[in-house]
Amino acid sequence: MIEIRNLHKSFGPLQVLKGVDLSLEKGKVLVIIGPSGSGKTTLLRCLNLLEFPDQGTLELGGLSLSFGAKLKKEDVLALRQKTGMVFQSYNLFPHMTVMQNVMEGPVTVQKKDRTEARARALELLEKVGLAEKADVYPHQLSGGQQQRVGIARAMAMEPEVLLFDEPTSALDPELVGEVLKVMKQLASEGRTMVVVTHEMKFAADVADKVIFMDGGYIVEQGPPQQVISNPTSPRAVQFLKRIS
Ligand code: ATP
Repeated sequence: MIEIRNLHKSFGPLQVLKGVDLSLEKGKVLVIIGPSGSGKTTLLRCLNLLEFPDQGTLELGGLSLSFGAKLKKEDVLALRQKTGMVFQSYNLFPHMTVMQNVMEGPVTVQKKDRTEARARALELLEKVGLAEKADVYPHQLSGGQQQRVGIARAMAMEPEVLLFDEPTSALDPELVGEVLKVMKQLASEGRTMVVVTHEMKFAADVADKVIFMDGGYIVEQGPPQQVISNPTSPRAVQFLKRIS
């Protein structure tokens, strides 16, 4: 489903990704962990071209892109359609109701019929436990509820891969669980997911594969029992000791 080869990304003189190779099968959950500044979010954002890599290749859902030369606009749009992003700070439209937030993409980008889009949005809101909040505005919701709307909105575009950028790190601790529960449910339904998080218990319970990044490289990768429970690199050992 996802295949990355030799991915490089710099911001000016700062080299953030220094040659990342990675693969993920359809229906699997990948969790990216690592210290602050190691390049986790940048790698995630390269997957839907919110950041454009400088070099390397990316295959996602049957689409192949090679970086370095100019990309075709239709390839960029096609890739973005295959991915749905859930942001740390929810990024809901404040002037739209919950229902309008979830319908917006399907109606304006995918040109779906409004009635159909509304029915699907309601299904998704039911899935994240918020059908009764369809007509309220984001500021009337808790952070955990807003993030669950963020998940429903990402799913409304029917992406092949769901991307999560530290989805619980802006939340009060007592609200983290409700978001992780929804994510767990999606994983159990066989969604392909890539998740940047510091929630080690979630990673240990839900991930099929964990990568530990440091300094722009993948330092360790494998099943959680290996990377989280028995890391071998000194950096991963130190990081996990600090975070647990
Ligand atoms: P954190 O856990 O703190 O979110 P991270 O591992 O996700 O960290 P990134 O957000 O990928 O790290 O950032 C890696 C480095 O790239 C950091 O030094 C960051 O300041 C820098 N960086 C990220 N985005 C940009 C940008 N748009 N312009 C300039 N520098 C950037």
